[in-house]
Order: sequence, then structure tokens, then C-alpha cells
Amino acid sequence: MNEPLSPELWDKWAAARVWAVARAPYLSGALLALDPIVVPGEIRRFPVDTAWHVYVGAKELERRSVPEVGFWLIHQTGHLLRDHARRYPGTNERLERRNWNLAADAEINDDLTDLPLPPDAITPARLELPEGWTAEQYHQALSVRVQEGDRLRDEQPVDCGSGCDGQPRPWQTDRPGLSATGARLTALDTARRIRERLDARDDIPAGWLRWADQVLEPTINWRRHLSTTIRHGLAQAAGRVDYTYRTPSRRAAALPGIVLPSLHRPAPSVTVLIDTSGSITEGMLGQALAEVTGVLRAVGVGRRKVTVISCDAQAYRPQTLARITDLRLGGGGGTDLRAGFEAAQASGPPPDLIIALTDGRTPWPDRPPTRSRVVVGLLDKGGQAPAWARTVQIGGE
Ligand SMILES: [Zn+2]
Repeated sequence: MNEPLSPELWDKWAAARVWAVARAPYLSGALLALDPIVVPGEIRRFPVDTAWHVYVGAKELERRSVPEVGFWLIHQTGHLLRDHARRYPGTNERLERRNWNLAADAEINDDLTDLPLPPDAITPARLELPEGWTAEQYHQALSVRVQEGDRLRDEQPVDCGSGCDGQPRPWQTDRPGLSATGARLTALDTARRIRERLDARDDIPAGWLRWADQVLEPTINWRRHLSTTIRHGLAQAAGRVDYTYRTPSRRAAALPGIVLPSLHRPAPSVTVLIDTSGSITEGMLGQALAEVTGVLRAVGVGRRKVTVISCDAQAYRPQTLARITDLRLGGGGGTDLRAGFEAAQASGPPPDLIIALTDGRTPWPDRPPTRSRVVVGLLDKGGQAPAWARTVQIGGE
């Protein structure tokens, strides 16, 4: 503590911790690992940093009820356990941080609906999005919305601290806190407790069970890895949005009373490049393709935004993907995916994302495409992908 709280507020803080442990006993170890730092001035919702300090604004503590403070403690612990800081895909730009914060909040609060939600808690419903998504999925959906001109302005500003996005805040303390190893052990211990309580038939929210499974069995699941990589590629494509319309426009100031159109950017376009050379097994390709189309559908990239080009030593006519079963795969000879990359760039405006499914036994372009990001799904362990692409090894599980 670098500034004393009044004894009454200190009691309230202690009561909130007890409330939180009673409501979420499976998180008790993590909740008790939080180290409070009192900060002067207006700081809302008890944000956290990655060293597990929790920042307590005296005014905020005074204003909130004990259950509300307890709720925010459980919530902030969620950011830390779910490793949102490491998962943050953006830069230190305020609006990017805000969108991620909304997305991460939706992921956490989705599992806290048994608790009394404070009115300013973000839920999937408040974002008009489905329940049960990951922060990455919510973030992608919000990014698309922002591109389409939605300023999400009805939401209150949210800031859960660097524990949510890894970007330091000016009000953070230099005091050492929990180390990365300590944080990892706390997460493992919490996951084990969740498993134990599951055996005892305690009521644990589904999202926390999934989380515990992932922490305790971090097997490399190629489906999940491919899905995450594609989502990340789309998020980056979506991130190349011009935010300048958010600041008051000088033109607007010069033309009072005239509403200027907001910048509009359509959903990302995707080209799937399929290596149909003889060495590719159809079963593996089918699985990879099913996963790709599933991810694209889940993030709302419409069919008309997806073009498929099959390629062996030459590229075949681009097709629009309606159903996987409609896809006619040309080819069967040797491979030169360079022809596919050329075709992807040649057919109209370059796609935001190219997903190449290949065994990697092909020459690659020397340089990445200038306008498109590239994800490679590698169907053969012996194959090669260029360093400029994000590569996922397909198969194995
Ligand atoms: Zn939060």
C-alpha cells in the first residue's frame, strides 16, 4: 500500500475478497494472490497488471457495493488466468486496446452470469454477439464492426489494465509482484482445483472447465492452432483500418451541420489456395479445408468473400466457395504454387488473406505478396514453407 485506506474502506475491501472467494471457491488461490495497490484519483473497476497487482481507487471502492467489488476481483482474476495480456493481438493504440478489452470482458463475464452483474459489466449480449466465444472471436467480430463504421460508442470506456493487454499504464507500480513462473503455477493450481471440484460435482461454469482442460493438457491441436492463426490473420487484415474518422475532422468543423460519411471498409476477402498435386492425400486436405471454411463462417466472412484456386503446376480457374462438396479440384501433376499466388493476385483486387493448403513440396515466391497476408497449412511434415508466411503443421491429432 502506498497510501492508506480508511479502516472502513479496508474492511470493505476485505469483505469483498471474502465474498469473491465464497462465490467462486474454485478461484480462491488466484484471488488471494492478488496484491492490492491503492492509487489516488479516479480509477475504475480495480484493474490489474501482469505482476498480479490490483489497483484500488479509494473513490471507486467507496462507490461500489461489496458484491460489486467482489465481482470485479473475480473478473480481473479472469484476465490474468486466461492470459489475456499475452493473447492481445494489437498495438498500444487506445482504441485497439479498448476493443480487445471489450472482447476479453465478454469472454470472462460469459462465465460469471450466476453472479450479480454490475451494470457496467460487458457481456456477449450487450455486444449483441453469441455466448461461448473466445476473446479472439469477439475481437474479430468487433473489428469487422468498427471497419463498417460502428464506433461502439454506446459502451462506457473500459480499462482493465495491462493484465488485459500487456501494455503498461502510467499508474502502474514498480514494485515487484508475482513472477511469470509464479503466475503459471497459480494457473496450474487453479486448473487442478477446478478438476477436483468437478469430480465433487460442484457447479463450475463451462468456460472455466474448458480453460482448465487447456491448461492441464496443452496438446498441440492443429485444428485449434489453424483456427487461431487464421483468426489472427483476419484480425490483422481488419486492423489495417483507418481510424482517422474517430478524431474530429477538420473538414467537419469547417462544415458545421453537415454529416460526413464515415469510412467504410468491407469484411476481409480471403483466397484459399489448394495444392492439388499428386502427393496430397484427399482425406487430410478435406479435413483442413473443412476447418478453414468453418473458421471463416464462424467469423462472418461470407461465401462471396472466399475464392478458391486449385493449383498444381498451373493455377486453375478461381471458384467461389458455396459448399465444400461443390469444389472441383483440378490438377494432380507436379506442384508450383507460385502460379497459384500469381493467380490470387491477378483476379481482381488482391485478397486480404491467402490461406495456402499444401504439402510444401513446391517452389515458393521469393517475397510475400505486398497486399495480402499469408497463412500456410502444411499437410506434410517434410514440406517447407517460407519464413514470411505464418505456418501451421496440419495433422498429428
Ligand atoms: Zn475486464
